[in-house]
Amino acid sequence: MLIALSLAVATWSGIIPRQIANLAPLDLADKHAWFVDLRLAALSNNRALCRTTLTSPLISARPIADKPFVDGCGWRNAVALSGAGRLRVTIDELTCETAAATAMWVAHVLQPAAEQHLQVPVVALQTMGGYSCRNIVGNKLWQDFRSQHATANAIDISAFELQDGRVISIKKHWASTGPQADFLRAVHNGACRYFRVVLGPDYNAAHRDHFHLDRGYLKSCK
Ligand SMILES: [Zn+2]
Repeated sequence: MLIALSLAVATWSGIIPRQIANLAPLDLADKHAWFVDLRLAALSNNRALCRTTLTSPLISARPIADKPFVDGCGWRNAVALSGAGRLRVTIDELTCETAAATAMWVAHVLQPAAEQHLQVPVVALQTMGGYSCRNIVGNKLWQDFRSQHATANAIDISAFELQDGRVISIKKHWASTGPQADFLRAVHNGACRYFRVVLGPDYNAAHRDHFHLDRGYLKSCK
């Protein structure tokens, strides 16, 4: 029982080599990939797998040097992201695992939702950053814990730029009615397949103007 539990935790954490877990490398273009969460987790500790997985055209990312952890802050196996799912998004430091999740979410959730609800593609994401050495904000229960941003394992997204020039903003359109709000709700809900924690304006006031998406150890979709 203990061994089974340890194996499950190790697989969830991406510690078990993917060959032992018997998981094939993830294809970012595969919309129907099985075990996508565990296969994303397998990227966290595997630079070689990261290099072979993060390939164009679904992602534009350059590996960056590790920042050794000090006081719970730093990163390992991260990239500088300039494009995901064929749109522009600039994040200077983001873990390989979170970058891959972002690309899959954009390609398989965001663009289809844009076509369905807005009839035009998204050309860029406006973000509020990736890495930030800080604790979790906005929730007393968690305020003594480091945020996933402290390890570059999270991305905050505030708005979506459309090909026709419109900007769909979470702060402005989340509580509205109509296609913009439908689009935002679809991309929020769809993010839960690729990220472990997805927080938006319905979670708390600290997230009134952005979606927080991370690949930490918790699982929550609010
Ligand atoms: Zn965040």
